[in-house]
Amino acid sequence: MFTLTDEMEKDLIQKRRYLHENPELAFEEVNTTAKIKEWLQDHDIPVVSFNLETGVIAEIEGELDGPTIAIRADIDALPIAEATDVPFKSKTEGKMHACGHDFHTVSILGTAILLNEQKEQLRGKVRIIFQPAEEIAQGAKYLVDHGVLKDVTAIFGMHNKPDLPVGTIGVKSEGLMASVDKFEITFNGIGGHAGIPHHAIDPIVMASQYVNAVQSIISRRIDLFHNAVISITSINGGNTWNVIPDKVVLQGTVRTFQPEARDAIPGLMKKLAETTADGNGGTVDFKWDSYLPVVNNAAAYEDIVRASVEDAGYQAVDAEASSAGEDFAYYQNYIPGFFVWMGVNGPKEWHHPEFDLSENAIKVAAEFFATLAVKALENE
Ligand SMILES: [Zn+2]
Ligand SMILES: [Zn+2]
Repeated sequence: MFTLTDEMEKDLIQKRRYLHENPELAFEEVNTTAKIKEWLQDHDIPVVSFNLETGVIAEIEGELDGPTIAIRADIDALPIAEATDVPFKSKTEGKMHACGHDFHTVSILGTAILLNEQKEQLRGKVRIIFQPAEEIAQGAKYLVDHGVLKDVTAIFGMHNKPDLPVGTIGVKSEGLMASVDKFEITFNGIGGHAGIPHHAIDPIVMASQYVNAVQSIISRRIDLFHNAVISITSINGGNTWNVIPDKVVLQGTVRTFQPEARDAIPGLMKKLAETTADGNGGTVDFKWDSYLPVVNNAAAYEDIVRASVEDAGYQAVDAEASSAGEDFAYYQNYIPGFFVWMGVNGPKEWHHPEFDLSENAIKVAAEFFATLAVKALENE
């Protein structure tokens, strides 16, 4: 249905290399934004203004009336010093496209070009979202706040997947990437002499009991068939050997896939913190930050996604879930969405200083999403 010509493919590879050489961090994607606009204009693809500082929204309007769907790519890079020896290595010290968002950007640009060339096939509109600031989990919210989802009935997106071969696309309904929540727990006691502990209230004892006991929430309170991780990643309290401190601060993160577990854990953790503090004569301050929901793929779209992979001439595989987070999830709070893994045959995992991918996947991704857009509009 859609074929990216060799010439277009070469051009997109050059553009990806340009972005790779010129990475920009979250909400600083000024040059990237200007370039995407320029490239869209070169192909007469209209840009819609949502008064964004960074990020670009394009829209392809079909010749037939119909609904609006969205395809989303993210555009930001990471504060990582690149350690590859590719000829188009980052020119900015300490910044790198180590998550492959350069690849996402040009692939979806390719989709926009293909769709624009065959507008007559489209029954409705395709909004192409080039989203800033995915890496700090703020970009999707920023765009939703600016009205970018207005009239959109479904949204689609991808992440490159280094452990999948080029030409394969990982598909899975429901939880694909974990929720991400953060917490900070302060155990308050009364400081005092280490040799006279009965005159103090020791927060180190409270924190120690809690670090062990909190894992029993996973083993005793959460359904075996639900997945959850509680990690305490930082303990701060005390500064010498003979003084009991007055407080200890714990920080960490919780990852889940099912809403039952995500909803239950904060209350269970808070209760346990309170009883631990209380049992030792202290008090607790419990702070919870609901950071990112689960990337929760709408099962109603799985058949269309799989059929589009096949029609585009590629291979659908069952996706394995990842306990990393993605702010694509934020859109799925509002409208149904489906996020896939794009095989890129890379040597390293995301965020590694030697992250790299096969540029052959640009053609696959561009053609797949163009096919999916047509099919999704027909089915809305
Ligand atoms: Zn990333
Ligand atoms: Zn990423």
